[in-house]
Amino acid sequence: MATTVTFSREIANLLHAAGGEPVSSCMQCGTCSGTCPVSDFMDVRPQRLIRMIDAGLKDQVMATRSFWYCASCYQCTVRCPRGIDIAELMYGLKRYTIWKKQYPEDLIGPAFSETFVKNIVRTGRSYEPVLATSYFFTLGLKEMLQEAQGATMLMLKGRLPVLPARIKRLENFKRMIKRIIPIGDE
Ligand code: SF4
Ligand code: SF4
Repeated sequence: MATTVTFSREIANLLHAAGGEPVSSCMQCGTCSGTCPVSDFMDVRPQRLIRMIDAGLKDQVMATRSFWYCASCYQCTVRCPRGIDIAELMYGLKRYTIWKKQYPEDLIGPAFSETFVKNIVRTGRSYEPVLATSYFFTLGLKEMLQEAQGATMLMLKGRLPVLPARIKRLENFKRMIKRIIPIGDE
């Protein structure tokens, strides 16, 4: 008989590689929300998000933007008294919503993440000028000019590469990375 995998189980599986305790061990102390530097910008704070996952409120969790605002500072992870890796949980939720293609259309984060990963798979290195294309055209004219001006200055000072760099033994790296990132061929 087929077993239905619950949402909290799916998220637990996503977190498996990262380690940390399961969300069901959360005691709702609020340390994660209290310590998070961007929780004021989140529509649902980390503490409540964890309770929603544990309760299996998949649609509500998928509809939040909180994990896209996570700055990956890991303060919540190091301070959680129950050893839950909340920062990795935020990454897991990003991956999950990209995988399911279920995220608010106006978010820059998903396109930025996909461009970043494809860039890494293609060359083994991040290349900022290509990354910028994932959000550049969402900016207003004034911001676009400021970005272009800032990028030009960085290039002139040698802080931004003009051409993309490639790592050595790129084919080996590609084979390895494609085993863990299901993005298909470029
Ligand atoms: S810090 Fe840990 S135990 Fe406390 S609410 Fe956050 S996840 Fe739960
Ligand atoms: S890792 Fe993310 S959720 Fe955790 S404290 Fe930092 S910004 Fe907040």
